Amino acid sequence: MKNVLSFIAAILIASAASAQYRPRPDAFPPVEEDNAAKAITMATTPAQMANWDRYPTYSTYVTMMQQWATDYPTLCRLDTIGTSVNGRLILSMELTANPSDTTLREFFYSSTIHGDEVTGYVMMLRLIDTLLRGYGTNPQYTTLMNTTLICINPLANPDGTYRYSNNTVQGARRYNANNVDLNRNYPNPFSTAKEPLQQENQAMINYFNRHRFRLSANLHGGSEVMNYPWDSFTSLQNPHPDAAWWQAVCHRFVDTSHTYNANHFNDVYEADNGVVAGGDWYVITGGRQDYFNYYYNCLELTMEISSDKTLSSNQLPTYWNFLQHPLVNYIGEIHSLPGDTILDTNLAITATATKPALVVYPNPATTTLHLSAAPATIDIYDIQGRLQQTLPQGTTTVDVSRMPAGIYILRCSGTNSKFIVRRQ
Ligand SMILES: [Zn+2]
Repeated sequence: MKNVLSFIAAILIASAASAQYRPRPDAFPPVEEDNAAKAITMATTPAQMANWDRYPTYSTYVTMMQQWATDYPTLCRLDTIGTSVNGRLILSMELTANPSDTTLREFFYSSTIHGDEVTGYVMMLRLIDTLLRGYGTNPQYTTLMNTTLICINPLANPDGTYRYSNNTVQGARRYNANNVDLNRNYPNPFSTAKEPLQQENQAMINYFNRHRFRLSANLHGGSEVMNYPWDSFTSLQNPHPDAAWWQAVCHRFVDTSHTYNANHFNDVYEADNGVVAGGDWYVITGGRQDYFNYYYNCLELTMEISSDKTLSSNQLPTYWNFLQHPLVNYIGEIHSLPGDTILDTNLAITATATKPALVVYPNPATTTLHLSAAPATIDIYDIQGRLQQTLPQGTTTVDVSRMPAGIYILRCSGTNSKFIVRRQ
């Protein structure tokens, strides 16, 4: 995985004098990780999850969720978000000690929208168990569950995770059963979806309609970085209105993790100490993060929590050791929004985030670059500032098939956009 990334990064660096980007492992075309070589041990009963060093079979997972709801009826309830294409359950555990309090702030964790990125799956299960066991004895957990509705969806793409069998995550894959990348499939305010909205995502949208989530995170693997919105733009094109708040929250997460293990959240070149604005790493559209930020005023973050998409089972406790405290603290950040006045202001600002004058996609491009609008004359410069071509007014597509690989600047009406040309 890392070798592949290094190779791609080397191509980009070789092709441009000052390459600043390398492909994000989640990006198109995605890098599939063969987990056949991983030492994966499955738990066929909940009891075998006792040391949290195995992956659960599908039935073990469902049984664990049902058992918690049975064992802790005053602290949690199990809800079904929906079903996958192949009929597997998409579940959410809803934890609070005050279920009748309608003023609670609502928080959401979701993991493994990419079926092979399974570290977060086990971390979320262990988080549910930890919060339930710790209520009444651990002051932090107790306060959180007294003041917050904490909803946790450990597995958003069960058909991808249990691709071949309910009994193993070996061979798990990124896509759902329709071969669609669910994190490129959400409606995007600034581009058109390529495929019909998948039922896993429609179910998630319906679930958001039943709640009023104000903070959430979507857990991935393949890198270790806190990726805050937007993914659809670089921060130069359109910074998130809450970028400063995001940076503070993300740095608190990474700094806390580093007090337990300093060897993580170090693998993304573009990041500032493990924190990056999504589009500055790599622009994507159709991601869940931007959808819920833009349409639902829910501050959602993409957490990439393990460089390996599928960890060998015996590494899972090591990851829990440096992730458990920041994962719990992040829930509490819903209360770091400094008061309802600021919260409302914050949401108002987010809701009116404006569409930038010009968005280019796909980025990187190999054959054709599309422009979101057909504004005035556009000049394209190479990274050394040399004018390459001038496009007439009204142009919305650019043939880049004969342009050398590298980074280019597209200048229009005084604003600059970057794009990358990649050769296969
Ligand atoms: Zn992912």
